[in-house]
Order: sequence, then structure tokens, then C-alpha cells
Amino acid sequence: MNIILLGPPGAGKGTQAKWLESERGMVQLSTGDMLRAAVKAGTPTGLKAKAVMEAGELVSDAIVSGIIGERLDMADTDAGAIFDGYPRTQAQAESLDGLLAERGRKLDYVIELEVNEEALVERVEGRFTCAQCGEGYHDRFKQPRVEGTCDVCGSHEFKRRPDDNAETVRTRMAEYRAKTAPILPFYEAKGLVRRVDGMADIEEVSRQIAAILDGQG
Ligand code: AMP
Repeated sequence: MNIILLGPPGAGKGTQAKWLESERGMVQLSTGDMLRAAVKAGTPTGLKAKAVMEAGELVSDAIVSGIIGERLDMADTDAGAIFDGYPRTQAQAESLDGLLAERGRKLDYVIELEVNEEALVERVEGRFTCAQCGEGYHDRFKQPRVEGTCDVCGSHEFKRRPDDNAETVRTRMAEYRAKTAPILPFYEAKGLVRRVDGMADIEEVSRQIAAILDGQG
């Protein structure tokens, strides 16, 4: 099964993708994570992407579709891919169709996480992750049980994304509204879109997604 999680920054796509990885053995394909890894490693792609990402704007369609194509050639994605943060434009949506068709695969669902944008700024601004294992936390909604210690791996190092500040979040929201939300009709026409309440508790959102994947949503 191959699915897209669609929603603005902070809608919970990454959280739900990680849950699907652990529950269903699917693989999260997050272009944001791949680009951040490229920036960190200082690859040519990373060097091109860095300033664009820091401004909250979109990296070129050719770059992101290129990295998704390479990732789909790795065997672990045969178990099922969760596209997280991709596609973000109509051109990327069309590229994805081609990339999947070339590999004899297809999309099963496009799951839209419906959210209230004002609440998202607060969600995104407060988030941080364990630098070791990547577990997600939040200043207000999910502090580590023991202050300064990761619940999962015990690490004492945490990090915040440079683009998770109020100003850049607003730009990222605007990009979502202008370029990403308009691809929904493309998928509506194919009958693939399902909606979940992204403002519900994390567990409730997971339950709604599971129902969709099990054909009951
Ligand atoms: P994300 O982690 O999905 O919020 O992505 C972080 C940033 O990476 C975005 O604000 C963009 O600058 C860039 N990015 C990630 N995925 C894409 C994509 N599919 N198309 C264009 N830019 C992207």
C-alpha cells in the first residue's frame, strides 16, 4: 500500500508516519527529513536547498522528485510507502504518478489531516526532538517525563528545526495554501482522498487512519 499524508506544517504527518512505520511495517518517505540530512552532510543538493528551507519556501520540483525516485528504488519501500511532505505541488503530484507507474506501483490513498491553522503555529513553534533517536516533544504538550532526558533512549541532547519559528511557519503555511492544497482536486478526481480530524488526539488520528487503511474509513 502506498499513501500520501497531506496537511500543512504541524498537522501531524511525521508523527502519524512514524506510527504507521512501527504498526504496519510501512516506510516513511519524508522529503523534509531527506533534505535536512543532505544539508547536514553538505551534499550538492543540501547546499542548494539550505537557504530555501530556512526561508520556508519550496525546494525545486526536480530536486525533490529526484530524491523520491532514488528512495523508491530501495527495496525496503516495497512493504509500502508513506509520502510525508511530498508531493507539495501539482508538478510533483504528476511526477509521483510517473515514478510509481514506472515501478509497477500505485497510490492507494491520499489522507488529508484537517487542521486549524492558528493552532498549528503554536504546535510547530514549541516542537523539538531528541538529537539521538528523533523522538518528538513539545514545550507545552509533551515534555520528556524526566526533564532533559529522552523518554525513549535516555539521551540528554535535543534539537529544534531552524525553520520552526513563527515567521517561517507563516511562510510555510502560505506555501501550503498556495501550492499544495490546490493539488487535492487532482486526487479527488481519482477518488483517492480521505479526511481525518488532525486536531484530535494523536491516538484518535491514528485510529482514523487505521480505519481508512483497513477499508472502513
Ligand atoms: P518539512 O519537513 O516537510 O516541513 O519540510 C521542510 C522544508 O523542506 C520545506 O519548508 C521546504 O523548504 C523543503 N521541502 C520538503 N519537502 C519538499 C517538497 N516536497 N517540495 C519542495 N520543498 C520541500
